[in-house]
Amino acid sequence: IVASSSLYGGTYNLLNVTLPRLGITTTFVDASHPENFGKAVKENTRAFFVESLGNPKLDVLDLEAISKQAKAAKVPFIVDNTVATPALLNPIKHGADIVIHSLTKYIGGQGNSLGGVIIDAGNFDWANGKFPEFTEPSAGYHGLVYHEALGNASYTFKLILEGLRDFGGALSPFNAFQIIQGLETLSVRIRQHSENALELAQWLEGREEVAWVNYPGLASSPYKALADKYLPKGQSGIVTFGIKGGFEAAKKFTDATEVFSLLANIGDTKSLIIHPASTTHQQLTAVQQADAGVGQDLIRLSVGIENIEDLKADLDIAFKSL
Ligand SMILES: *Cc1c(COP(=O)(O)O)cnc(C)c1O
Repeated sequence: IVASSSLYGGTYNLLNVTLPRLGITTTFVDASHPENFGKAVKENTRAFFVESLGNPKLDVLDLEAISKQAKAAKVPFIVDNTVATPALLNPIKHGADIVIHSLTKYIGGQGNSLGGVIIDAGNFDWANGKFPEFTEPSAGYHGLVYHEALGNASYTFKLILEGLRDFGGALSPFNAFQIIQGLETLSVRIRQHSENALELAQWLEGREEVAWVNYPGLASSPYKALADKYLPKGQSGIVTFGIKGGFEAAKKFTDATEVFSLLANIGDTKSLIIHPASTTHQQLTAVQQADAGVGQDLIRLSVGIENIEDLKADLDIAFKSL
């Protein structure tokens, strides 16, 4: 796999620690230069993997440029679209072959159900010679030759017939019920998340206690041009900022809020706050943390849909607690 180095911590560990035990290794690249993907391709490369809007770096990727590199390498382009959500961005329109989402975040929307989804665009040519598991008889399923029998549905069927059966990633019915209810209001919620996040990011930029603010919708963001292209309807609800005083001040700040709950989740209607360097990204080395965009002073907000004045007042109290 060739993957962006700016990934959700759990995904980074899956690629960096767990999958190598199964013989699947990953080359991590700086995704802000799309040609890095092509340069990292080896004989055994079988997929490109990115997050459309990196969590928590909030880098907006040039999906079309990376997709071109994937096509040249004849490997599927897999995009984790969890933070952007399908209401703001459809990666398939920009060349993705497979899109995945955590349903636990904005799609469910209430932080009450775990789930995930894989969406196959049905465009990838699994018979291009690199994927014999689709073109040779499957010993795991009655000798079925997936691509012959199912054409561009072969990936989805292989996932269901073998992947789901053998690896067990089955959504519980009750979670499915809650998540599909959440889905009905996604487009309305994500508009409010995006509006609140932009206003809060601008407000934070004006605070003297703040060293820097990162939100792709800010004029000051290095990703503003890409956000205008890929996320014109809104840039979702995650904002990160650096606090003067570094690691200790950041930890103290996240303990002082009351409207913002101290939680590792994102995408809840309620506002959430976390200091990744001492929590979600604690197990990474300093170099890996830096690659993932997680500095010692970084605070991540998952801005909810509450009244914006309540959110500002809560953060104001936390600033004063320092
Ligand atoms: C949270 C998250 C995941 C993992 O989702 P779970 O539902 O918690 O397993 C994957 N990718 C991104 C970008 C995430 O934010």
